[in-house]
Amino acid sequence: MDCIFCKIIAGALPSRKAYEDGEILAFHDIKPQANTHIIIVPKTHIENADAINAGNSRIIAHIFECIPKIAADSGLERGYRVITNCGEDGAQSVYHLHFHLLGGERLPERVGSPEG
Ligand code: AMP
Repeated sequence: MDCIFCKIIAGALPSRKAYEDGEILAFHDIKPQANTHIIIVPKTHIENADAINAGNSRIIAHIFECIPKIAADSGLERGYRVITNCGEDGAQSVYHLHFHLLGGERLPERVGSPEG
């Protein structure tokens, strides 16, 4: 098991948990890019958005159904941003599908652009 997020899901690596159910786990990012930065992952290993298909897409719906609760429990009532990075040009660094939930402050209008 080479995947960092699979290790976190299995409890083999520590994390600061924000939400968990039978299908997904949400935990605080180790290197936050906003006042609140939570990573949401499916417990089954899916590489990235490019690997979503009709056979596994139900988990994506479940993640988005849980996001309002995770956001509310994390004090993001003023709003938030959800991002997934995919592949090399998307600057994905961990190849286990995850959604960044960012908030707790007014975010810049654009992030990740060459202009900053
Ligand atoms: P990405 O660049 O979209 O693949 O995002 C991977 C994210 O995982 C980054 O924001 C990292 O800071 C975060 N990350 C990596 N390792 C850990 C870890 N052990 N615990 C929490 N977050 C992590």
